[in-house]
Amino acid sequence: MPLYRDEAVVLRTQKLGEADRIVTLLTRRHGRVRAVAKGVRRTGSRFGARVEPFMQVDLQLYEGKALDTVTQAETIAPFGERIASDYGRYTAGTAVLETAERLTAEEREPSLRLYLLVVGALRSLADEAHTPSLVLDAFILRAMAIAGYEPTLDGCSRCGEPGPHRFFTVAAGGVVCPEHRPAGAATVSQPAVGLLGALLEGDWTVADAADARTQREASGLVAAYLQWHLERGLRSLRLVER
Ligand SMILES: [Zn+2]
Repeated sequence: MPLYRDEAVVLRTQKLGEADRIVTLLTRRHGRVRAVAKGVRRTGSRFGARVEPFMQVDLQLYEGKALDTVTQAETIAPFGERIASDYGRYTAGTAVLETAERLTAEEREPSLRLYLLVVGALRSLADEAHTPSLVLDAFILRAMAIAGYEPTLDGCSRCGEPGPHRFFTVAAGGVVCPEHRPAGAATVSQPAVGLLGALLEGDWTVADAADARTQREASGLVAAYLQWHLERGLRSLRLVER
């Protein structure tokens, strides 16, 4: 398949030479793909504005040895403008894109569920459906679940002892009972555990009703949980207002 079509969200762009860009894409059917978009930095480029971060595009690509080449790009959803016009949405959106890139360890490994999750998160941000940091936290929890790291929020993650439990540890992957509480485990409030569960399940009635303190507590745990599972910290997460 030297020439192929796919849908994609643009995760990142880098300058290449005088007028080109390398674009990192999360595609619907081909996983994460890096491709060259030629001439896109020239004024009057046919599809320059379409291959920018946050944009959902329909692409035609030519398969190459190291990098593919974008030969056509049509906009499906122009999330970029709406997200970039607000600092809170922009920083949360940037963290969504960076998380998606970091959680796709291998190029060209299809993950339809992650693709749909990214599109859903960007749409929520663009539509101002919920507090941006909540959209980000829901995305991170669900993306981690897809990657096989769903946190345990009811029973103790070591022995299964039914909760509610007051301690949370990233290493054990969720809440733990007093007996299995390691040194340095964070204490967690019941409202924060409830919010994490609501975000994981997509129960927005509960999530939207959480107070600011509970949101901050849950966000701190989500960030710690993600960072623990990624080799290096996520730069963009530090910029998100919580
Ligand atoms: Zn236990």
